[in-house]
Amino acid sequence: MKKTNMLAIVLCLVVLIFLSAFDLEEEDINEEYSYNTVFPENYTHPENPKMVYLTFDDGPTEYTPQIIDILNQHHVPATFFVVGDTGYTHHMRMIVENGHAIGLHSYNHDFEQIYRSSEAFFNDLQKIDDIVFNETGVRSMIIRFPGGSSVTRGATKSTMNRLKIEVIEKGYQYFDWNCDSSDSKGAQSASGAFSNIKSREKEFGDIVIVLMHDTKKITVEYLPRVIEYFKTLGYDFLPLSLDAPAIHHTW
Ligand SMILES: [Zn+2]
Repeated sequence: MKKTNMLAIVLCLVVLIFLSAFDLEEEDINEEYSYNTVFPENYTHPENPKMVYLTFDDGPTEYTPQIIDILNQHHVPATFFVVGDTGYTHHMRMIVENGHAIGLHSYNHDFEQIYRSSEAFFNDLQKIDDIVFNETGVRSMIIRFPGGSSVTRGATKSTMNRLKIEVIEKGYQYFDWNCDSSDSKGAQSASGAFSNIKSREKEFGDIVIVLMHDTKKITVEYLPRVIEYFKTLGYDFLPLSLDAPAIHHTW
């Protein structure tokens, strides 16, 4: 056999070995940081139908580490729907390393831009997907539309109806919420945001997805009360995943 042929075969083998090692590394990271693995003693009780999913949008920010600390102190998992231009993308790894779920929200959260067309939406989604992967080694398949799936700002009904089908076809699941703390808009104080959550109590079913934001100090302040509140009501806390029950808004 010619020397050049031998060299080509050896090179191919080296590339194949490198690629398989990379695949393994990616799977290992996902397994290593799953909530089940990080906090096995605190995982949900399968017989309890009452489940609450705490979700934090629009981070990471300077407040994200404090929120993770509080969650960890209470042994509670949560889900962070992240954006890409906050200047704190390095905190994404902390989310994953502590066993919380990371979801895709948007790269720049600009409604007028991302809802202009399917192409614009998926270009933006790919950008945040790549950032999350580069920071954490995780390819997240759970998303939250900026403004929710029934958003009207910057989007038309037909655009959203098409996007909702397209994201599912691409293997994603999208999650809205059925309990809004209004901590990013109406609520001006920690007690105001907590009251907003409590005021919804009559509407709570077995599944509650709480919308919060890790972009404001008040969220750090009222989070312990939210955790104690749902514990008192008998809920188990879970991170969102592809097979979690999806709350979808309707028009
Ligand atoms: Zn948002």
